[in-house]
Amino acid sequence: MRLDARKEPAMERQKEMIGGYFKRIARARQIGEPVVYTFVPGNLAELLGAFGTAPVLPEINALQSGMRKKSAEYIARAEKAGHSEDVCTYVKCDIGMSLAGNVGPTGDVIPNPDLLLLSYTGCFTFMKWFELLKERYGCPVAMLHVPYQWDGQITDSMLRYVVEQLKTVVIPALEKVTGRKYDEAELARRLALSAQAEDDLVWVLESARNRPSPIDAYFGGVYSIGPIFSAFRGTEDGVGYYKLLREEVQGRLDRKEGPVTPDGPMGEEKYRLVVEGPPNWTSFREFWKMFYDEGAVVVASTYTKVGGTYDTGFRHDPASPLESLARYCLGCYTNLNLPARVALIEKYLHDYAADGFLVNSIKSCNSFSAGQLVMVRELEKRTGIPGGFIESDLVDPRYFSAANIKNRLESYFQMIKQKRAAAVH
Ligand code: SF4
Repeated sequence: MRLDARKEPAMERQKEMIGGYFKRIARARQIGEPVVYTFVPGNLAELLGAFGTAPVLPEINALQSGMRKKSAEYIARAEKAGHSEDVCTYVKCDIGMSLAGNVGPTGDVIPNPDLLLLSYTGCFTFMKWFELLKERYGCPVAMLHVPYQWDGQITDSMLRYVVEQLKTVVIPALEKVTGRKYDEAELARRLALSAQAEDDLVWVLESARNRPSPIDAYFGGVYSIGPIFSAFRGTEDGVGYYKLLREEVQGRLDRKEGPVTPDGPMGEEKYRLVVEGPPNWTSFREFWKMFYDEGAVVVASTYTKVGGTYDTGFRHDPASPLESLARYCLGCYTNLNLPARVALIEKYLHDYAADGFLVNSIKSCNSFSAGQLVMVRELEKRTGIPGGFIESDLVDPRYFSAANIKNRLESYFQMIKQKRAAAVH
C-alpha cells in the first residue's frame, strides 16, 4: 500500500500544519521563541501560546518517527545506552532520537528545551521521562501535579490545588524563561478559540452515531485530533482546520458515505466497534487495513480522549482561564480511574450502537494496559456485547505481529457475526 495514499482536503491541511509546526520549532532560536517541552495529556497549549513559546511534544515526535519507520533505530540506540526492554517505547524512541542528533520526523533539528513543563496527569512514566531529559539537557523543570481522579470526581479542593500551582509554579517559571509578564487577557482570547475548535471536534466525533458512520473514530480519529492535541489548540489555524473537517464530514454524511481510508472510500459498514488503547504506529496503515477490509469501522475510541474529554461536555472557558486549564488537566483520559473509564466505554457502546468492544493492549504502556482484561470482563457483563483483545506496541516494530493480530481480528469478527445470527433466530 502506498504511504501517500488517498487524502481528503482536511488531511492535507493537517499535514501542512504539522509540517509548518516542525519548521517553526526548528527556527525557534532564530526567531527568539523559548522552547518548552511538555506532554499531550494535560498540555497547557493556550498558556504556552500566550507566553510566545514553541511547544515540543515528545510523544508526537515519537509517534511520527514510528510512522516514518525511524523508531526501531532510535529504540536500539536507547537500549544500547542502557534503557531496559520494558520501558515505554515512546521514551526510548525520544531518547534515541536525541542521541542521534535530535533530528525530528520531518528532517529538521529540534532545539534543546529551555524548560521542561511536566504536567503530571496520571502516568508515572511522564516523571521518569522528564528526569532523563533534565539529566540530558540540564534545563529547569516546572512540575504541575494534577491529582488523580481516584473516585471519579473533580472536587473544589483539587481545582484550587492545581490553580495554586499554576499561579505559584508554572506561570513564574514561564515568566522567567520568556522574560514576559503573564497576560490573562491573551490567555482568555486563546481559550475562546480553543472552545470553538472543541465544539467542531466533538461534532465530528459524534457524527459516528450515524449509519453508516462518516468517520473512523480511531484510525481516522488520530488525524482529526492531531492539531488540537499538539500545538494548535487556542489558535486561528486550529479553528480553521476543525471548521474544514466538519464541512468535509457533513458532506459525507449528506451523501451517506462511510469514512475515507488510505485506499479510498470504505465499502459496506459491517461491524461498528469501540476501541480502547493507543494504536500501533509502526504498521499503522497495515493495522487499519485489517479493519476496513472486513468492513469494520471504529465508531468511538478512548485514545482520541487522551488530550481532552471534550465529548463529556468540557470546554476551555475564557471566563475562568486558570480554573478552566485546571479542569482540563484533571479530566484527561489518562487521569481517570478504572471505573470511570469503564463507564465512559459503556456509554460509547450504547450511544454509538456498537457491535463490539476491542482492546489494543500496548506492551510497553503500563498506564493504559493495567486493568484492561478486567475492563473487558466488566463491559461484557454489563452490556452483553462481546469484547476482543489484541496486543501490539506503540513504536517498537518487534511487537507488531501482523499474522497474529489478523487471525485474532478475523475470529473476533466471526464471533460478532455468529452472535448476531443467534440473536435473529
Ligand atoms: S501513557 Fe503510556 S505511552 Fe504515554 S508515556 Fe505513559 S506509559 Fe508511555
